[in-house]
Amino acid sequence: MLRTAICPGAFDPITNGHLDIIKRATALFDRVVVGVAATPIKKTYFPLEKRLKLVQIVCHDLENVTVKPFSGLLVDFARQEGATAIIRGLRAVADFDFELQMALMNKKLAGDIETIFLMAATEYSYLNSNLVRQVAMVGGCLKGLVPPVVEQVLEQHYRLR
Ligand code: ADP
Repeated sequence: MLRTAICPGAFDPITNGHLDIIKRATALFDRVVVGVAATPIKKTYFPLEKRLKLVQIVCHDLENVTVKPFSGLLVDFARQEGATAIIRGLRAVADFDFELQMALMNKKLAGDIETIFLMAATEYSYLNSNLVRQVAMVGGCLKGLVPPVVEQVLEQHYRLR
């Protein structure tokens, strides 16, 4: 039986921290579905189409990775995809409270789906999409923080505003 995992997120936009988690998930599962949340809890800066497109471009070369948008309950999306696990990245203690709540709620809603936490890589442990956008807004260098295509899109986006 093929083992499938979901990597959900807002990806607003996708960073090298997200990408690292997705790649590591592919080493653990036969199939990884990256779920781009249409209406995440936090309001997003970029619309779904843009967030989705960038994740699709960045994951294009990754074998066994499919990128899909989803709305509604994450566990319903996981079921639809035949996934048995939800993969989340843990950066700092600050992530833990929220992630624990989400994992326990998802367990309550779907007891057969496990949440698996991967620790953030040291070099990306301070990285989040919000910070990346703030750096881009004031013209800071994003090299090594986001994939090159995201760097280009952000540079263009903030230059044209
Ligand atoms: P963020 O929390 O940055 O707004 P998302 O909501 O898109 O990002 O998060 C999707 C998933 O990716 C979450 O599990 C989150 O913990 C993880 N993640 C985000 N940034 C990183 C990072 N730099 N290193 C490891 N995991 C990360």
